[in-house]
Amino acid sequence: MTVFEKDKTYVAGTYNRFPVAIVSGKGSLLFGEDGREYIDLTSGIGVTAFGIADEKWQAAVIEQIGKVQHTSNLFYTTPCADLAELLCKKTGMKKVFFSNSGAEANECAIKAARKYASDKYGNNRYTIVTMKNSFHGRTLTTLAATGQDHYHELYQPLTQGFASIAPNKGTEELDALHKATPVAAVMIECIQGEGGVLPLDPDFIRAVAAWCKANDACLVVDEVQTGNGRTGKLYAYMNYGIEPDIVSTAKGLAGGLPLGATLLGEKVKSVFGFGDHGSTFGGNPVSCAAALSILSRIDDELLAGVKRKSDFLRAAFAGAKGIESVSGMGLLLGLKTAKPAAEVLAACRDRGVLCLSAKDKVRLAPALNIPDELLARAADVIKDVCAD
Ligand SMILES: *Cc1c(COP(=O)(O)O)cnc(C)c1O
Repeated sequence: MTVFEKDKTYVAGTYNRFPVAIVSGKGSLLFGEDGREYIDLTSGIGVTAFGIADEKWQAAVIEQIGKVQHTSNLFYTTPCADLAELLCKKTGMKKVFFSNSGAEANECAIKAARKYASDKYGNNRYTIVTMKNSFHGRTLTTLAATGQDHYHELYQPLTQGFASIAPNKGTEELDALHKATPVAAVMIECIQGEGGVLPLDPDFIRAVAAWCKANDACLVVDEVQTGNGRTGKLYAYMNYGIEPDIVSTAKGLAGGLPLGATLLGEKVKSVFGFGDHGSTFGGNPVSCAAALSILSRIDDELLAGVKRKSDFLRAAFAGAKGIESVSGMGLLLGLKTAKPAAEVLAACRDRGVLCLSAKDKVRLAPALNIPDELLARAADVIKDVCAD
């Protein structure tokens, strides 16, 4: 059997994969089983932050694998403690809970907000408000948080206690909800990634933050996709001058190994006690060593590079034939194309460029350090494909 046939036979059919089998890569190049070379503008959906087989990342991982690969959370390990310290120092948040994925980081965020509210206000205050068109993960609870009905239909009943509101329309809806069922938290993505690379209106983000402060609700920012340098700041919320109570992140954090992190601010830093939450693999020393290598290199210079590469792409696509608009920030960009996104992706793939889609958009999320020359080559291919 070919890898395609075997995968179709034995792997649960949840993914409609592209017809490409990847065997290896280097930086922002991926090499297919068919011997072809691809410029990677997907970075594994915003995960391989410094590309494939990045040497510093690889060295950090190999060094830790040579020491101990897993201990359970019954023991202390240095990578876990060091990473928590670095995350807190870089954000001003106070404590970190480690897990393995974005959904799990959001589960922890939701549990922290629920527990803060019930500790302080009793069992009636549990509602978590999210935004329509948001995406927060695939577990039953994070699906309930996800403000898109079509994800809900197959899996009723979902976790109770969620409501979603239309973003960018002021906070009146929050007032009304709060009156009906007290709000424990409001959860936002500063840019709705899966929803189509749609940035929330900055004034709305600030209004929600102020509303949360005024009503002692937790402001939860889902930085699973937008975090770890993706938007040109370490975390996207830093573009808006707001102070979240809880930040969840994953995807790019460990540069390609599974790691989720839920950052707890001053208000919720002591919400969890012994046994209140846990995860066997959470804070795994190899993942944490990988994340230390990534996070310590997301500095001003790297972030300036992200902005410069973003400006380059925007300039390249401005007014290009067949490209109607460009949304997003940093190296998370969405192109509204005249052709259907799937057609653009397939044609780019035929010409050796791998892109993502998000709803009706062509989504670009290359490695943060993609070489300018590869980016220019890929942009030319995209422009050609969209024009033709
Ligand atoms: C990808 C994503 C998630 C889910 O992350 P998983 O690691 O797939 O569980 C949650 N929130 C946002 C904003 C995401 O982009």
